[in-house]
Amino acid sequence: MTRDWRALPSVNSLWETTAEPARAFPVLSSEQQADVVIIGAGYTGLSAAHHIAKSGLSPIVLEANRPGWGASGRNGGVITAKFRLSFRDIDAVHGRAMARRMYEIAHESTDMVEELVSEFGITSANLVRTGQVKAAHNDTTLKAAIDEADWMTREMGSAEVRILDKSGVREETGSDIFVGGVLNPGSGGIHPLNYLRGLAKGVASRGVPIFQESPVVRLRSEKGGIVAETPQAAVRARQAIIATNSYSDLTGATAHLQRTLIPFRSAIIATEHLPRNLAGKLMPTGRTYTETKRMMRWFRIVDNRVIFGGRGAFGKQDSQAAFDALRKAMVDIFPELADVPLAYKWSGLVAMTLDSVPHIGRRDDRTLFSVGYNGAGVAMSSLMGRYLAAFVRGETPNMGLLDAGRVKAIPFYPLREPAVRIVAGWYQFLDAIGQ
Ligand SMILES: Cc1cc2nc3c(=O)[nH]c(=O)nc-3n(C[C@H](O)[C@H](O)[C@H](O)COP(=O)(O)OP(=O)(O)OC[C@H]3O[C@@H](n4cnc5c(N)ncnc54)[C@H](O)[C@@H]3O)c2cc1C
Repeated sequence: MTRDWRALPSVNSLWETTAEPARAFPVLSSEQQADVVIIGAGYTGLSAAHHIAKSGLSPIVLEANRPGWGASGRNGGVITAKFRLSFRDIDAVHGRAMARRMYEIAHESTDMVEELVSEFGITSANLVRTGQVKAAHNDTTLKAAIDEADWMTREMGSAEVRILDKSGVREETGSDIFVGGVLNPGSGGIHPLNYLRGLAKGVASRGVPIFQESPVVRLRSEKGGIVAETPQAAVRARQAIIATNSYSDLTGATAHLQRTLIPFRSAIIATEHLPRNLAGKLMPTGRTYTETKRMMRWFRIVDNRVIFGGRGAFGKQDSQAAFDALRKAMVDIFPELADVPLAYKWSGLVAMTLDSVPHIGRRDDRTLFSVGYNGAGVAMSSLMGRYLAAFVRGETPNMGLLDAGRVKAIPFYPLREPAVRIVAGWYQFLDAIGQ
């Protein structure tokens, strides 16, 4: 079943309140032609548009709502060079060459964000590469994190990672709850909506037409090309790119992609401005922070507020119970926040895949797609735009495990939602008993 795109709720996030004003783009109201029609104006679609235009081809972007309405406008803004699957696991199953290629892709992704921010002068994105601390709740998970860091240094030549003991992680986070951690200086943070709006503005200023409130309701082939129909008009193009990720079921035109994905609700809360006695005390190093738990939470300071996010068995809609659970987890880590009110809470869908890596490739000889960022897509979707442009030009880049030729629709698809909840519950149980 698809969702009703006419009744899409708006997002009341910290980012919406603090972002640069959104530029309004027109609604598609007349027939258009392009080399490539791109469906979805998140990071994937806009980066693809930019790189396609740079190749001398003409893209057109169609967005169901407005640019950034999807995950790209409401995420945590944490930038990391990794996949949900660890490089060590990739190495164990697929061998050294594959692990190295995936490591390369991961690092290309964080560089791509820097490149786009600099190319379009998006200073309001406040991109920082201050690093990320992975904090461990117990000795078992700390040992696993240290083993992983040692392996990365030894086998991938990643000299950057630093091990933190209990006092080191306390100095970093301001919390006494962790037993140690690992610092990865390559990661960073960004204002996700300003980054998105900067991209949309930059791409449009170079002559790429972007249409908002123009959902593609039908995608059909015709001789020599493809037609993307919206309720009022259509775009005829030689190729199409589907960049709809976890919102692929907004209309029937892209819903088939949703069958390769497991949508998972991810939620974020933000406190009011911290009182004077706490400012500079929590997370004084200004990095981003995650936990070693399976149902991982992450946190950072933005605008002198604590932002705290995580995934869970949250279900289809926002639920107060889920936000309450998130707040409790935040106060468990930072008891000082017990009396600091929340100012914002919001959520969105991340797209998980069965093999824990994104999928990029061709659906047929005219249609390309890139989806399934597994909740770590700010940098990766920005990079996939560049690779999509390479596919459009007829190149065949080495995409490692991301190559969608390997992708199968999820078996027993209708059962995936109850299954997601069972798996999430099991992970929460393992976390609770410290495994
Ligand atoms: C709450 C949350 C927190 C997250 N935190 C992080 C984080 O800290 N770090 C990180 O790396 N990643 C994070 N992510 C993941 C990251 O945001 C996504 O992987 C990334 O934004 C995906 O970008 P995208 O362009 O592929 O998809 P989206 O940004 O979701 O864009 C897809 C767009 O397609 C449009 N669309 C859908 N159907 C149609 C149609 N038929 N016609 C036209 N348009 C259509 C939608 O309206 C939407 O705007 C988070 C995600 C969420 C939800």
